[in-house]
Amino acid sequence: MAAYEELKPVKTFMGKLEHDKDLLGELTKICLDNNIKLGKVEVLGAVKKTRIGYYDQDNKQYSFIEMNEHLEITGLVGNVSLKNGKPIVHAHITLADKDGNAFGGHLAEGTIVFACEFYLTSLDGPEYERGYDKTTGLPLWQM
Ligand code: ZN
Repeated sequence: MAAYEELKPVKTFMGKLEHDKDLLGELTKICLDNNIKLGKVEVLGAVKKTRIGYYDQDNKQYSFIEMNEHLEITGLVGNVSLKNGKPIVHAHITLADKDGNAFGGHLAEGTIVFACEFYLTSLDGPEYERGYDKTTGLPLWQM
């Protein structure tokens, strides 16, 4: 059965990220600086370098892909919740190369900003705390 809550948007932050910074690190920092514990994230822009994860469902492990290519971010969607009481951004990213080929995965640290514009909306509601889920092996919401 699906588990969910009705949440209300509180504020939307809109801005740009600094060149050469870590994409996931910067989004997390904005959450920490603004005390955002629950929210949603959208980003578009371009990256200089990419590190994305793929979760192997059989072995319950992430493997990571690193690309040293200049790529467009055609989409990034994510959420903000808590892990060990601290805000964590979980985001998936889709990227395109110079020929328009697209690929993507779970955004990991090591993805470096060329230019990025973001929207970050804080939501009002109960805490969404992540914890180990034995069925998937993932840190899922405990609800
Ligand atoms: Zn993921």
